[in-house]
Amino acid sequence: MDKKPIITRFAPSPTGELHIGGARTALFEYLFAKHLGGEFLLRIEDTDRARFVEGSVERIIESLSWLGLGPDNIDLIPLQSDRIETYKKHAFDLVKAGHAYVCTCAKERLEEVRHDLEKVGQPPHYDRHCRIDGFEFKDLTEGCYVIRMKMPREGRQIVHDLIRGDVEFDLSLLDDQIILKSDGFPTYHLASVVDDHEAEITHVIRAEEWLSSTPKHLVLYEMFGWTAPEFAHLPMVLAPDRTKLSKRHGATSVEEYKKLGYLPEAIINFLALMGWNPKTEREFFTLDELIAEFRIENINKAPAIFNIEKLNNINEHYIVEEIRNPCLAGRQAKSEIRNKFKNFKLENISNGELELIGRGGYKTLKEAAEYISKLRQMPDYKAELLIFKKSSKPNTLKGLQDTRNKVQDTKDWNIETMQQLLADVVSEGGFNNGDVFWPIRVALSGEEKSPSPVELAVALGKEKTLERIEKAISELN
Ligand code: GLU
Repeated sequence: MDKKPIITRFAPSPTGELHIGGARTALFEYLFAKHLGGEFLLRIEDTDRARFVEGSVERIIESLSWLGLGPDNIDLIPLQSDRIETYKKHAFDLVKAGHAYVCTCAKERLEEVRHDLEKVGQPPHYDRHCRIDGFEFKDLTEGCYVIRMKMPREGRQIVHDLIRGDVEFDLSLLDDQIILKSDGFPTYHLASVVDDHEAEITHVIRAEEWLSSTPKHLVLYEMFGWTAPEFAHLPMVLAPDRTKLSKRHGATSVEEYKKLGYLPEAIINFLALMGWNPKTEREFFTLDELIAEFRIENINKAPAIFNIEKLNNINEHYIVEEIRNPCLAGRQAKSEIRNKFKNFKLENISNGELELIGRGGYKTLKEAAEYISKLRQMPDYKAELLIFKKSSKPNTLKGLQDTRNKVQDTKDWNIETMQQLLADVVSEGGFNNGDVFWPIRVALSGEEKSPSPVELAVALGKEKTLERIEKAISELN
């Protein structure tokens, strides 16, 4: 018999941008499916109309594609709101089969029940007032009603979780869950089960917060007579203070990270390591490498902590890689990198400037772009800063002048020749390094701490370098 193909899905609610935690869920669903040669699908869970945000479906798809997690059904992404009649039909099927019932309790009555339970210290639940055995299919042409599933009155439901092992739930504690709301829309539970069944999802991988819904879903599968998929509930993503990751901890959406200058490769690599243990010390993985290495049993149960320093290190690594990787050094790759910098208001980035960034030290494209933009401006500094603490004004001046003369004569403009040029100035003039390298650094950047003067000169080009050395000489005269 042919083995069923693996199918996973990402099922976000369109309530805004793609949250970074949601992106991690999508990544693990994607990796699980792709590792096993399966499919990764997207569907939009938009039945909660009050929380719907216009435009978010497009934004979620855009973010997923940017990350490289484009779903296999990109041309036909199902929206739950288009399938209301299907859910209704299934809800009524359950009523007809005696697994669900119509509840016409008024809001006021439900309030009262809740209130009475609260008074005796019991958790709120529906008192099953409308749950009558026997034929219960009422005439529904008028009045307000919901449909509730008949939760078994006793017994245990075991969720076999691929990450957590068996998790047991006491069914007698579960409420008679509403499956169809009075506005005719299904609740999450019904829509999720119907959709996962129809799309032949084999593995439901989702955030831990849904674990408590899974026993209800398993009861629904049984009522419908359908085989349930397998389940895996991912560990939570927490901020370093161990609270839920939220705006007050910084950026929370993929779009925000993009705007801050993080590369998709870095976000993917970072998200994978938030919860998945590669079982080696290895830190860097491309998406293809993750597909090859991913094993669901290597996902931790404990919450993952969002560590921005780690993301910054990984991002710096990929910025350097992207610029220096010999396979990418072609013209097309260079123009792609240039375009990325354009998003950070940095036009016409030169090879020398790219080389400077490629030496590392920039956490984000934005940070690198800001540094280069600043470097393009003539620096402002006090003349005394040009003189190294172990040097003197005459030595500094002479070092600057000798460098200027050599720079004027030089034709090659690269790291090696610049390094040699400055070393020659030092040795020929009988200087110490500080007499020459220090003032050139200050002349070129206006800073005490900066990339090396050699890298600065290459980034600036000959003309700007000369101009800045001239200015330094005149500052000292
Ligand atoms: N719509 C739910 C969410 O936004 C999906 C839960 C699930 O994957 O079943 O998290």
